[in-house]
Amino acid sequence: MLIGGIQTLTLLDFPGKVATTIFTAGCNFRCGYCHNPELVLPELIKKNRHDFIPEEKFFNFLKSRENFLDGVAITGGEPTMQPDLVEFIAKIKEMGFLVKLDTNGTNPQMLKEIISRDLVDYFAMDIKFPLEIYDKITNVQIPAKIFQESIDLIRNSGADYEFRTTVIAEYHTPEIIEKIAKSVQGCRRYTLQNFRPDYTLDKKFAGFHGLTESKMQELQKIAEKYVEEVKVIG
Ligand code: SF4
Repeated sequence: MLIGGIQTLTLLDFPGKVATTIFTAGCNFRCGYCHNPELVLPELIKKNRHDFIPEEKFFNFLKSRENFLDGVAITGGEPTMQPDLVEFIAKIKEMGFLVKLDTNGTNPQMLKEIISRDLVDYFAMDIKFPLEIYDKITNVQIPAKIFQESIDLIRNSGADYEFRTTVIAEYHTPEIIEKIAKSVQGCRRYTLQNFRPDYTLDKKFAGFHGLTESKMQELQKIAEKYVEEVKVIG
């Protein structure tokens, strides 16, 4: 496991739980708005590698927090890029912690294994754009059926879950949000997260915008036609 960072305490990353968050290094997307380029771009990963956290150190830390933490949120980068992720999660579960996994949905095979072993308690999957034009955001071409498979696996996993979209004024029109919401129609929870134009993988995105509160509410209403609970963040 390449553990690029750790946030030792979070009340936000794992809904309803006191957790620690780990950030894995490596991602197969190149979203221009990404706030973690040092966990995505190979040249930055290589440069920072000596600062990564050894697994043993992470597990020792976790042991020392047994009485304080409910769980571990695993985010990235893209965690399913780590070939040993499944066994890593199994080890966390054996210690008695809950696990939340963030994913971009490009590795349904690994999700299948995780679900069959009942290793994750909460999934959060990004739905960045309508599935058929996904590469406009991610800059990588992946067939829509891969995302659809991950969506279906997560929805039917028996674990708690949410789908979520980072909303950028220049990209996410009401029509786009309606298309995305339709692709997760009937799901339990969908989160619209407002874009913050600060440190971004593609510098051009630093000049893009989040939405006003009223525009976010407008998108929320549209998504509520398709999804049980729509949360707005930011
Ligand atoms: S936003 Fe997420 S999926 Fe996109 S490049 Fe960054 S880490 Fe990867």
